[in-house]
Amino acid sequence: MDKVISVSLGEVALKGLNRGYFENKLLKQIRSATREFGSPNIYKEQGKMYIEAEENYFDQIINRLKKVFGIVYISPCIRVEKDIDIIEKASILAVEETLEKRDISTFKVKTNRVDKDFPIKSPDMSKKIGSVLLKNIDGIKVDVHNPELYLYIDIKDKCYIYTERYKAQGGLPIGTNGKGLLLLSGGIDSPVAGFMMAKRGVSLSAVHFHSYPFTSERAEQKVKELARLLARYSGDMHLYSINIIDIQKEIHEKCPENQMTIITRRFMMRIAEKIAQSQDINALITGESLGQVASQTIEGIGVTNSSVSIPILRPLIGFDKVDIISIAKEIETYETSILPFEDCCTVFLPKHPLTRPKLENIEEAERKLDIEYLVDKAISNAIFSVIEP
Ligand code: ATP
Ligand code: MG
Repeated sequence: MDKVISVSLGEVALKGLNRGYFENKLLKQIRSATREFGSPNIYKEQGKMYIEAEENYFDQIINRLKKVFGIVYISPCIRVEKDIDIIEKASILAVEETLEKRDISTFKVKTNRVDKDFPIKSPDMSKKIGSVLLKNIDGIKVDVHNPELYLYIDIKDKCYIYTERYKAQGGLPIGTNGKGLLLLSGGIDSPVAGFMMAKRGVSLSAVHFHSYPFTSERAEQKVKELARLLARYSGDMHLYSINIIDIQKEIHEKCPENQMTIITRRFMMRIAEKIAQSQDINALITGESLGQVASQTIEGIGVTNSSVSIPILRPLIGFDKVDIISIAKEIETYETSILPFEDCCTVFLPKHPLTRPKLENIEEAERKLDIEYLVDKAISNAIFSVIEP
């Protein structure tokens, strides 16, 4: 009898022919998430992975695995041979250990007989273990409809017995869906947007635009902290900090005031696209949500898109602000996002930004600017850092 941690794979397990690819990526990520806890051995067995770690690391490992995309549930299990006497003893132990942690008066046994050579069928096994528990543990009853505790028994090459199923993030392992460059501001939305795409398996890099010295050093620190919080999910992240104050000054000087915001956004996209191309990154990611602010109209999005040809992913496009905030709280970026530092968009902020920009007008205004020169100059002054969790 010993203890292991099991993880259920959710969508990864549905991946048909590509499954090996997804499983290997996930295995690699679980390995790196558990390395500091004694580099435990990990093996796959029919739809789950098992981690043979020392028990005193279990809580820490489970907390780490809750941030690894591709995992749906995590359970500390007792692992035993497929011997009915041993399974009975282990089941009693599993329930007793759970009773030490929380009060339970009703339970139900759920058996999953993967190994069809095991002689007792699942429903019979559940009944059998149920009656053993009733006999050996005081104060608990069976409730098949709404039990306070499930005792799970998975019968495979070995038998796994557990009572807890901690919910993890789900999604797909990082790196299984290409690379994205997140436009990371200091706000609430963009970290959430990055999280959502990372959860779909996109590995993240980030670019931040600032207007130093009009924006402060502390605003930069805040963005780095947001990147760090995201990196807990996505792994090490490359961050490009770009000063766009010269571009903003040019636009301010040469273009109509109400086009400031939209033209600045088009420059952000061009700069981001160029960085993405140089790094083999396949898409940009933004935190835009339709109608949230003046620039986030369908027309604004259209005119923004026209500045580049790289796909722009906007995972929050249909989200209400309250829903974005609740994810931000869940992933613990909210408190940092609301720190009151200035943003580059507030420099030269027009009184009445255009809400329905027309592409021809914007392009005409932009003819007064040396776009390529401005973009290249901003990129050549980029400050690059690697952000670790
Ligand atoms: P957020 O909460 O993410 O700051 P927002 O509600 O302030 O978004 P906008 O200012 O219109 O909305 O920005 C929309 C998106 O454009 C952001 O989510 C982000 O992806 C990108 N963006 C805006 N400002 C910056 C910046 N200074 N650096 C990098 N990306 C930016
Ligand atoms: Mg913002």
